[in-house]
Amino acid sequence: PGVGYGEAFFAADARRELPRFAFDIHKNLRGRLLIAAGSREYSGAAVLAANAALRTGAGMVRLAMPVSPRLPLPAALIFREFPAGREGCFAAEAARELTPWLEASSAVAAGSGWGDGPGLAEVLERLLDFPGPLLLDADALNLLSRRPELRRRRGTLVITPHPGEAHRLARGFGIPESADRIEFACALAERLHAVTLLKGARTVVAAPDGRWSVNSSGCADLAAAGSGDVLSGTVGALLAMRPDAPFEMTALGAWLHGMAGELGGRGLIADDLPGLVRLAVGGIAAGSAS
Ligand code: AMP
Ligand code: MG
Repeated sequence: PGVGYGEAFFAADARRELPRFAFDIHKNLRGRLLIAAGSREYSGAAVLAANAALRTGAGMVRLAMPVSPRLPLPAALIFREFPAGREGCFAAEAARELTPWLEASSAVAAGSGWGDGPGLAEVLERLLDFPGPLLLDADALNLLSRRPELRRRRGTLVITPHPGEAHRLARGFGIPESADRIEFACALAERLHAVTLLKGARTVVAAPDGRWSVNSSGCADLAAAGSGDVLSGTVGALLAMRPDAPFEMTALGAWLHGMAGELGGRGLIADDLPGLVRLAVGGIAAGSAS
């Protein structure tokens, strides 16, 4: 299989792949991301993803949540509360109400902090109809593992499982697991027809066409609650900017997230990460003519 980046994705790759925009760009052309995330219990996950998406540089970020978050939201965010079920998760009616926001978006990121409730399958089905790139993480992946028949997708799918979520996906879809993380990520990508980001130290990104790369940035300080929610917002924003390059944008997002972790170091919490992603983006952008 073709090797995407000569195995490792380095700073030079990030510099080459970082989306650049004309000086007279309009916000509508700088990526319009819809984040469908959160629940009563996990509203922080949605707020982290939204902060990260804005600071990665998306032109417009909409956050759909089934509750009003108990945390302050960035003023730059477009926010709406959607119907919730008794569990405080998205109710089935949310699926229909999402339509205008889906039509206004160039990419979608979903699943962070979803929890588990009866309405979520309908919401997932609606999101899978979105024609542009759709990133699924966390509870959306667990739901897909239990309901593999929902996987009938028109547009690009990007999945960002940690090893536990990847294991559940492998079981649900009958994919052989491999101790070789590259082999395993490639098998998931091929069988799910999804750009697959397998999380952990040396994150692997694999594409359905056989390309893969191993991320060179990151540190153990990223192994903390909420870290993956930031990754989901960052990759989502990049997909919104460049819907035509999902493999490249996913690998770039992994690199920026890892670099943000390195800039933070010991004592880092996920709340710090969006601001550090912004510094990582700025550092890469400054290193070359835009
Ligand atoms: P999640 O498990 O969804 O919160 O995601 C955790 C994030 O932290 C992912 O981006 C992982 O790749 C990253 N991560 C977790 N553990 C490590 C580690 N030991 N070294 C580097 N990155 C890690
Ligand atoms: Mg996670």
